[in-house]
Amino acid sequence: MKFKPIYTVSIEGEQVGYIGDKEEFEAYIAKELYNNEEENIAYSELTVVPKYELKLVNKQEETQEESIFAKLKENTQITYYQYAIAQNGENKEYVNTLQEAEEIVDALNNEFGEENTNISIVKTYTNSKEAVNSVEIATVSQNLKNILTETTKKKTTETKTASSKKSDTINGIRIAVTPVQGRISSRYGSNSSVRNHTHTGLDIAATSGTPIKAAADGTITFSGTKSGYGKIIIIDHGNGVETYYGHCSKLYKKSGEYVSAGDVIAAVGSTGNSTGPHLHFEIRLNGKYVNPQNYLK
Ligand SMILES: [Zn+2]
Repeated sequence: MKFKPIYTVSIEGEQVGYIGDKEEFEAYIAKELYNNEEENIAYSELTVVPKYELKLVNKQEETQEESIFAKLKENTQITYYQYAIAQNGENKEYVNTLQEAEEIVDALNNEFGEENTNISIVKTYTNSKEAVNSVEIATVSQNLKNILTETTKKKTTETKTASSKKSDTINGIRIAVTPVQGRISSRYGSNSSVRNHTHTGLDIAATSGTPIKAAADGTITFSGTKSGYGKIIIIDHGNGVETYYGHCSKLYKKSGEYVSAGDVIAAVGSTGNSTGPHLHFEIRLNGKYVNPQNYLK
């Protein structure tokens, strides 16, 4: 019998097959999952740790690089990047490369005049591979053309009406979910004897332990205790938009975790500078407080 060196690979204690060359395999993973410009991968995180063990096996033994790679890929959280074309600060359409975005923006500015378009390019991140794969440049261009045609029409025919402060999005980020349903116990901007400053968020009273949901998709940038806020979670939604969830009794997510709108992240409590169980909810744009009630449904 002839023997050759080979590596057995196991994931979470379960043997999933053999590979021939470990270094080559790891380099392949790094290239495909971590550094793949073609697939618009911004960064990836393996949620399992593969274990390699050197063995001598029968020379006929086949290796399974492809299926093992597929398994690892299944257990990888991949974040893709795209370029949004925003109009009036609101992301409208997405393309995969900066060059495509610039070509579209140039064409639209030429057609409608730069003073009318008010469009910009924003780098954005998504966990959806479909979003990256489904880009059709012709459709994107046409949709933006339709939007600009509408805007220009409106501009000329519409008489000026007082615009409501309510907005669907803040700098292109949709605040899709009200984190806790309950009685508003203190509004943004109010004064109280408990605080010696103007209120920076919205207080929603609810019983201790009530689940708190993420208001929008994003990455947790802080989960811990802060003076005044008690136990708090901070989510970064991109485009300079952050949300704060203060006075929690329990924190269910850790810094660095990605959450979707509606995911339960913490429980209502009364930690920090608080006189009773409630959620202190803040929205900040580029570090500045804004009134959450302008963006909540
Ligand atoms: Zn508050």
